[in-house]
Amino acid sequence: MPKESRAFLGAIALFLACALWVFFGAPLSANEWRGIPSQFQMGFSLLPLRLTRVLKLFHSQEKTPALITLYDAAENRLVSLPMEEYLIGAIAMEMPASYHMEALKAQAVASRTRLGMGCPNHTEAMACSDPAHCQGYLNPAGQAAKWGSEYGMYRARIEKAVRETADQIITYNGKPITVLFHAVSGGHTEDAREVFGEDVPYLRGVESSGEEGTSRFETTQTFTLQSIVALLNAAFPNAHLSAEWLPLQILPLTYSDSDRVTSLTLGDITVSGRELRQALDLNSTCFSIQFTDSSATFTQKGYGHGVGMSQAGANAMAAKGADYEAILRHYYQGTELSDWNESTFLGETENEVPAKEETDDIQAAHEKMAGRGSRL
Ligand SMILES: [Zn+2]
Repeated sequence: MPKESRAFLGAIALFLACALWVFFGAPLSANEWRGIPSQFQMGFSLLPLRLTRVLKLFHSQEKTPALITLYDAAENRLVSLPMEEYLIGAIAMEMPASYHMEALKAQAVASRTRLGMGCPNHTEAMACSDPAHCQGYLNPAGQAAKWGSEYGMYRARIEKAVRETADQIITYNGKPITVLFHAVSGGHTEDAREVFGEDVPYLRGVESSGEEGTSRFETTQTFTLQSIVALLNAAFPNAHLSAEWLPLQILPLTYSDSDRVTSLTLGDITVSGRELRQALDLNSTCFSIQFTDSSATFTQKGYGHGVGMSQAGANAMAAKGADYEAILRHYYQGTELSDWNESTFLGETENEVPAKEETDDIQAAHEKMAGRGSRL
């Protein structure tokens, strides 16, 4: 064999070896080398999935996946990834993967719609991965760590939910909606007006039955009188609270239709239920307080702000036979499903434009809520 052909074959072999190296997720950069064990394990566990994808490439006319830019809050950098992969990571973070398939599908459509809201703090990206701000995102390594030996099964379930709702988003009057959701409502979801001060027709409270068995349906949180007074005086210096008088100084004033505390007297001032929840890191504003000589116990219903879809409620509806469309119609009343490609996010649509005043209200609410964690 002539020297040139041998060199040529050698070059091809080297190229193939490099391609395989990268394909199997083997490390390239210094950072990746540092994470060798997890990277290799990950590559190994992803092997069947990747081989399936390669086979699919040869056997179907799949369109090239749309790429999105994500601001990775943990690593403080921008990453580019297929939209489908982002959605899988978002659902992995936001909803238990063991939930019913129709609940996972409802979450997939909600997360896809949420993605279109953009991130006001990171305009260079389509979303950020901070759950307190946009919606969370768990990368494949994180999914592998979270699910362990169940990785393959859970991953396949979420992939199915994303695939079978491909391109679907929730719209109201032809416009993508402001998506909010929460873990457990406690039996009734909340009006957006009560939490964000803006009335949004599709974010009004609805009944959410069947959540009773969920772990955070009803929880208690106990503080010593000294610790709660210290926390509250730090958060609200003008309240002037004392441990001795606290049972008379902290009094709920108003409740929403869903029994959540909307305002309360706190010593010398009045605060909102939401402000109190933040200061004490409570699960929900649906609470009652019991005092002893030395402690205050909050008995709470639900987990999260309570607006939009209750994930536990979605799971309960699915268990009773509702499909994801029925779940979304229940929690986002008056909405419909539309194709992502035919709807312009945050802009005008070709569909019928609703009355200007209504559009402005919804847009104002959208802007106010875009910077809020969808779930927290
Ligand atoms: Zn964000």
